[in-house]
Amino acid sequence: MSLDGTYDDANIFALILQGKIPSTTLYEDADTLSFLDIMPQTRGHALVISKWSKARNLLDMEDEALAEVMATTKKVATAIRKALNPDGIQIAQFNGAPAGQTIFHLHVHILPRWEGDPKGFAAHGAGGKADPEALEALAQEIRAQF
Ligand code: 5GP
Repeated sequence: MSLDGTYDDANIFALILQGKIPSTTLYEDADTLSFLDIMPQTRGHALVISKWSKARNLLDMEDEALAEVMATTKKVATAIRKALNPDGIQIAQFNGAPAGQTIFHLHVHILPRWEGDPKGFAAHGAGGKADPEALEALAQEIRAQF
């Protein structure tokens, strides 16, 4: 998998959109969905995806879908800031496996960052797979800020 390829309707984020696997929703509108990352790099690590675009990466994406995803990214980042008071917020997006992309449905990462904490991306998140109940409790804190 790299920059070129065919969109796979069974990729993990497509399955989340189809309701076939669960996710912890932070925000949803007609065109976009934001949910917590299951292997968070930081507390509050969130993802934003388009509901309708079948873009695998930024280079494939319709300008309209990109604008929708970025508008939601700003909304969610603002709510995360209010809920968690980070020192910084990293917005990241990877294109192609050599750049770190593992799921080929375009997604934007929102990573609250705190001074003194490790930077960068660990292979399986900072602490592996998160406890679903802990993610839901965190999502409630963030959702309360919209
Ligand atoms: P990428 O490396 O492709 O930019 O990021 C994919 C992200 O999706 C990773 O941060 C990974 O932890 C996350 N992820 C993988 N599987 C799942 C899943 O089933 N649910 C959620 N919420 N996140 C996932």
